[in-house]
Amino acid sequence: MKLILLGPPGAGKGTQAKMLTERFAIPQVSTGEILRAAVKDGTPMGQKAKELMDAGGLVPDEVVVGIVRDRLQETDCNKGFILDGFPRTVAQADALQVSLQNMSKKLDRVISLKVDAQALIERLTGRRTCKDCGRGYHVKFDPSRQAGVCDACGGTLIQRNDDQEETIRKRLQVYADQTTPLISYYQEAGVLLELDGMQPIPQVQKEMLSLLQAG
Ligand code: ADP
Ligand code: ADP
Ligand code: ZN
Repeated sequence: MKLILLGPPGAGKGTQAKMLTERFAIPQVSTGEILRAAVKDGTPMGQKAKELMDAGGLVPDEVVVGIVRDRLQETDCNKGFILDGFPRTVAQADALQVSLQNMSKKLDRVISLKVDAQALIERLTGRRTCKDCGRGYHVKFDPSRQAGVCDACGGTLIQRNDDQEETIRKRLQVYADQTTPLISYYQEAGVLLELDGMQPIPQVQKEMLSLLQAG
């Protein structure tokens, strides 16, 4: 299964992608996580990306397109993959088409998660992220068993630099300007499915699985 999860910051892409990877044994390809790992490692790419990410802007298309092109060629992506947070611009979507064509692969589905702005702000301000494995939690909607500690790996939970209200508003504006055109882009390509992301996490998961099984 070759899938894109599309939706604004806080829509639940990462949360659902983690569940799908377990269910279907295919990797989650999150450009945000790959970039945060590069920032943490202090690579030249990470050093350049950090400022843009902390300000809530996008990293240049050629950087993320290169990351995804390389990642999709790794053998664990042969069975399929879940793209989370990529593409975010029409140029990225066009480049993805080219990469997939070169590998003789085709997207199966794009699932668009719809969540309103007020809920997104509440989700992102309460989000906590494992600094080791990247799993996301929410102080109210999806708390870890032990406060501040990741259930999956025991790592410390932190608040991301960009999950501050002012930066969140900037990211939502960037999404509206740069990423929403992808909804009609994939609708026209005949691969878009829409899902009500306002529901509780298990209900979103249930509906996502039935959409995918319906084929
Ligand atoms: P969220 O899950 O909250 O939507 P991500 O983890 O996907 O956030 O992304 C965090 C940041 O990393 C973005 O605000 C942006 O700066 C950068 N980033 C991630 N993916 C992309 C992309 N496809 N294009 C450009 N920048 C990206
Ligand atoms: P994205 O990857 O789209 O930015 P996340 O999956 O990180 O979004 O979710 C953002 C925050 O909202 C996290 O704190 C997560 O625990 C929480 N969350 C995810 N899905 C839901 C949901 N359906 N209802 C309430 N909170 C949710
Ligand atoms: Zn963890």
